[in-house]
Amino acid sequence: MNKFETVDNEKELERQYHYIDLLKNVVNHLKEIKQRNITACVETFGCQMNARDSEKISGILKSAGFEIIEDEKADLTIYNTCSVRDNANQKVYGRLGRLSTYKKANPEMKVVICGCMTQEEQVIDKLCQSYSFVDLIFGTHNIYRFAEYLFYVYEGIERSADPEIDVIKKGHTLISHWNETTVVCENLPKDRKYFYKSGVNIMFGCNNFCTYCIVPYVRGRERSREADEIIKEIEGLVKDGCVEIMLLGQNVNSYGKNLDNPISFSELLKRIEKIEGLERIRFMTSHPKDLSDDLIEVIKNSSKICHHIHLPLQSGSSRILKKMNRVYDKEKYLDLALKIRREIPDISITTDIIVGFPTETKEDVDDTIDVIKKVEFDNAFTFIYSIRTGTPAADMEQLDEEFVKEQFDRVLNAVQETAKKRVGLLEGQTLSALVEEVNKQDESLMTGRLSNNTIVHFKGTKDLIGKIINVKLNECKGFYYIGKIVE
Ligand code: SAM
Ligand code: SF4
Repeated sequence: MNKFETVDNEKELERQYHYIDLLKNVVNHLKEIKQRNITACVETFGCQMNARDSEKISGILKSAGFEIIEDEKADLTIYNTCSVRDNANQKVYGRLGRLSTYKKANPEMKVVICGCMTQEEQVIDKLCQSYSFVDLIFGTHNIYRFAEYLFYVYEGIERSADPEIDVIKKGHTLISHWNETTVVCENLPKDRKYFYKSGVNIMFGCNNFCTYCIVPYVRGRERSREADEIIKEIEGLVKDGCVEIMLLGQNVNSYGKNLDNPISFSELLKRIEKIEGLERIRFMTSHPKDLSDDLIEVIKNSSKICHHIHLPLQSGSSRILKKMNRVYDKEKYLDLALKIRREIPDISITTDIIVGFPTETKEDVDDTIDVIKKVEFDNAFTFIYSIRTGTPAADMEQLDEEFVKEQFDRVLNAVQETAKKRVGLLEGQTLSALVEEVNKQDESLMTGRLSNNTIVHFKGTKDLIGKIINVKLNECKGFYYIGKIVE
């Protein structure tokens, strides 16, 4: 038995399916009154974890009879928020202004805010004070109770003698705030955005407490799912037409450590590899401190694991890495990245870099640029350090904005140079690509993704979506290719 309670298929699932049924009655009643469908719009901010959570939210809504649309003027609009950087929070506050106008025009409209931002108590206070039209607020731990909370909103239920009803009402807003959870509850309906690929949560939360990062505070302690549950979910996805899965966790390399029968991430990958019909396996994110030789071997010998690894560096300066509590130093990162390059030469290595962490000097940034040049990253997400209240780095002395902007531009230039060089190496090769969608700019083109995550556009038809085909990479356009299908 997992140390963390797995409530799948048990009492809680039964309870939530019961609330989905009750919600169905509410939606049917509204349909009758309005003589039209009742619509819902789910807006996602942030990372793949949030995108997957939004599929769970939409899944519940669809099962309850809502029509999912992309227009925020829907009968019900949900913001699934991110709080990793302050600009993500500001974006949500800005957009809420617009929602308030929609709600004034249609007072029956319901507005729901959930996700990482609403794990922070000061955010809940601000929402209640300045955005009092919001109908429902809940966080990341209790998503699986969404149907229940929404039913309370529609029925005007505020509190009850039942301790299971974990909501309070502040003004107009119904709130359910959990600080922590030990529960993993996954077997509720999901509305997948793509039929041919899907994210699969293998673990939740994070125990690393990097000093700049809010994730451990808003996503809770690390909890791994049982391997059998993960395999079952992937087998179901494959039956449903899925050929590619992305295993999701804040630090996939520490997967399985907290299970009663511990299993390593490499072992999990070997089990997933055996699933017939599954063609591609991706995963993110790998923390450099936990990436084992064993994992490198498993990727090297696998015919399904994609040749792309996202290995966040954050900083190339050992001094800053120590202050960030990243546990590795510049040399250890370089050894690891260069070993991966040696063992799997066609792999692409991408990264995350933060510029402007407290006390960072020009020399520290020189170290970051040195690592960029030595590893030759295929791509990088570069971020300006953002103060997150409650994290240790928020109490450190902050840098001058102008200085940070200059350093950021230096890092960005270095990354763009290596990325261009690495992507260009593929010119003339014929490689397999998963066809993902019609090109947004030119409808005669299809867009595919190579194993190493590079994008290629080529002439083709819609019926190819979801298929893996061979493409000759004719022309490198900087960070992507124009190619041609090879029969
Ligand atoms: N768990 C992953 C890891 O450790 O690499 C990353 C998860 S985090 C959602 C994604 C990225 O956001 C991090 O790798 C980091 O570069 C960036 N990030 C996190 N906190 C930040 C902050 N306070 N300011 C700027 N960037 C931040
Ligand atoms: Fe944040 Fe560090 Fe955990 Fe990644 S490993 S989620 S950066 S605390």
